[in-house]
Amino acid sequence: MTNSTSVLITGASTGIGATYAERFAQRGHDLVLVARDKVRLDALASRLNHEYGVNVDVMPADLTKPNDLLTVEARLRNDARIGTLINNAGIAQSGSFIEQTPDQVEQLIALNTTALARLSNAVAPRLVQAGTGAIINISSVVGLAPEFQMSVYGATKAFVLFLSQGLHLELSPKGIYVQAVLPAGTYTEIWDRAGIDISTYPAMMKVDDLVDAALVGFDRRELVTIPPLQNVTHWNALDTARQVLLSDINQAQAAERYKSAS
Ligand code: NAP
Repeated sequence: MTNSTSVLITGASTGIGATYAERFAQRGHDLVLVARDKVRLDALASRLNHEYGVNVDVMPADLTKPNDLLTVEARLRNDARIGTLINNAGIAQSGSFIEQTPDQVEQLIALNTTALARLSNAVAPRLVQAGTGAIINISSVVGLAPEFQMSVYGATKAFVLFLSQGLHLELSPKGIYVQAVLPAGTYTEIWDRAGIDISTYPAMMKVDDLVDAALVGFDRRELVTIPPLQNVTHWNALDTARQVLLSDINQAQAAERYKSAS
């Protein structure tokens, strides 16, 4: 027997997305798996169907291509069985900003932010109408750290965190749960794909551990889940500082320090 809602996962052919697929199949959810590599998606779908008895659809799609993206949006808009969207597909890039080309920068933004925002926008009205559902967005600790010198990647992940925080405020009163997950370095194909040599990097998290921890946060209905963060009071202090800053913004008057040139 399967759970009543199915879960659509982007970037499900490998890595974090494939691990989420396995975990939600274990929990008895039907799945819709999205990525470009149909062969891998088919293999995962047939294994999960065989092992857990859930129905698994595959939707091969390149989420940087407008027509493919529209097809996935339509599925999210119209398939009332889908109760959870996991926006996981993402890429990273090697090199500094001046080494990256405008096309590479555009591609990264298209997948990591534009596709994620469009897919969330496609599903949210239907979930709100149903009064239930969840959106999980995979951000990154890089989105908190310009110091890591992955400027465009980090900017896309800051976007994902901010969007999740905003959607939480807008949608949680309507019954929708939104979660931002911020992994740190995790062993997946992302590094090879980006041409980043991690052989000299400190040890990273195993993908199973990352997703299991993220799901603890999901089950607790956390808004922001940072699996590698050892002391949560540091995140809470940052969030509190942000709110103090907001309470100190007076839009009618410039601050005293800007009232003279000296
Ligand atoms: P991964 O192993 O490289 O997997 C990325 C997934 O995205 C694959 O399924 C890939 O499948 C899919 N994908 C890539 N380009 C796509 C496109 N144009 N259209 C549709 N699907 C596409 O990476 P991962 O580490 O699991 O990353 C998953 C998410 O976690 C990303 O958002 C990443 O930024 C984030 N994250 C990862 C780490 C880390 O250290 N691994 C840390 C922080 C955050 P196809 O090639 O079949 O399309």
